[in-house]
Amino acid sequence: MSASNDWIARADRRIMKTYGRYPLVAVRGEGCRLWDADGKGYLDFLAGVAVNNLGHCHPKVVAALQQQATQLLHCSNYYHIPSQIELAEILCEHSFGERVFFCNSGAEANEAAIKLARKFSREKHGEERYEVITAVASFHGRTIATISATGQEKVKAGFSPMLPGFKYVPFGDIEALRAALTPSSCAVMLEPIQGEGGVNVPPPGYLRAVRELCDQNGLVLIYDEVQVGCGRTGKLFAHQHEGVEPDLMTLAKALAGGPPIGALVAREEHAATLGPGTHGSTFGGNPLVTAAGVAAMKVLLEDGVLENCVTMGEYLRGRLEEMKSRYGFAREVRGQGLILGMELSIEGGEIVKTALERGLLINCTVGSVLRFVPPLTVTRAEIDEALEILDGILAEIEN
Ligand SMILES: *Cc1c(COP(=O)(O)O)cnc(C)c1O
Repeated sequence: MSASNDWIARADRRIMKTYGRYPLVAVRGEGCRLWDADGKGYLDFLAGVAVNNLGHCHPKVVAALQQQATQLLHCSNYYHIPSQIELAEILCEHSFGERVFFCNSGAEANEAAIKLARKFSREKHGEERYEVITAVASFHGRTIATISATGQEKVKAGFSPMLPGFKYVPFGDIEALRAALTPSSCAVMLEPIQGEGGVNVPPPGYLRAVRELCDQNGLVLIYDEVQVGCGRTGKLFAHQHEGVEPDLMTLAKALAGGPPIGALVAREEHAATLGPGTHGSTFGGNPLVTAAGVAAMKVLLEDGVLENCVTMGEYLRGRLEEMKSRYGFAREVRGQGLILGMELSIEGGEIVKTALERGLLINCTVGSVLRFVPPLTVTRAEIDEALEILDGILAEIEN
């Protein structure tokens, strides 16, 4: 029995089956590559679902973790934590933000945003303001509040009753949002580009129109940048392409270059709502992950990673467009920077499986959108290699 098969058999007995896992046992990663327990290498164009933006085990992130691990692993948020303060400073220096709350995941960051928005609106506008409007096909996490916020039925099945106070509108449709407003409306929460929902990019001007609508109606504007933040689209934060600022922004995935982290970034006015005792997290912003976060953000900002994301994003997009023109079942290529999706008129699941067998990791969202989220450090040669594998697979499918 191979080492991988042995692990898979053990997983089969003891790990809860909450994921449809592929038969890959990951043991080592470097840059754009991942190796399994039998030594087989893969080109990783999933990057831990947009977590490993700097590639696997970036040496500066690893060094920061090693250094911090010898100093202090954990201490309570009753005390001040230098690396947490530094990371907050970096985030605020490079965004609209003035204060940061740290937690451990994207769902937690969105929970914090929802709590803040409700308390803020209630205090500012009155008791009846609690409803958060989100988008159809959005994804905001897997806790009860965040599945309630998510505009997809499949994440809610079996878990009712949902948390009340959420409403969904078609993404990119400003009139639908306007029509959804009621005296209960408190906040609008959107991904600037929908990731899990199929790499959906809103029409130009939409985010600006949403901002204006929020301003006119005293609504808190929340951007969920858990997936598209931290350089993924070629700017540090995706909303910066349109130059429209939210009131709250949530981050997680790539923020610490791999280790688990979440953050809620807010303007002062809103941040002031969450005073002592109103919210918290034992591990949130702990020394280890925030030391990694500081290192990861510095690499992102100082080592040309954003520039590489823009150039390689254009290159990958061009190659995908070219491929689309050759395959009748390929409908559309969309996205920004290095979050790209190729929508097919067929199911994408088998393509993902075959790609894995041939050494390429990608995934498929909403059944038919192949998603490419490689490390932002990806090279042209790695893109060529990945696309050769993909082209080979698509060529075997009936056109
Ligand atoms: C992944 C994701 C989340 C959830 O993050 P977790 O860390 O898995 O809780 C929330 N929002 C968006 C847009 C995401 O892509």
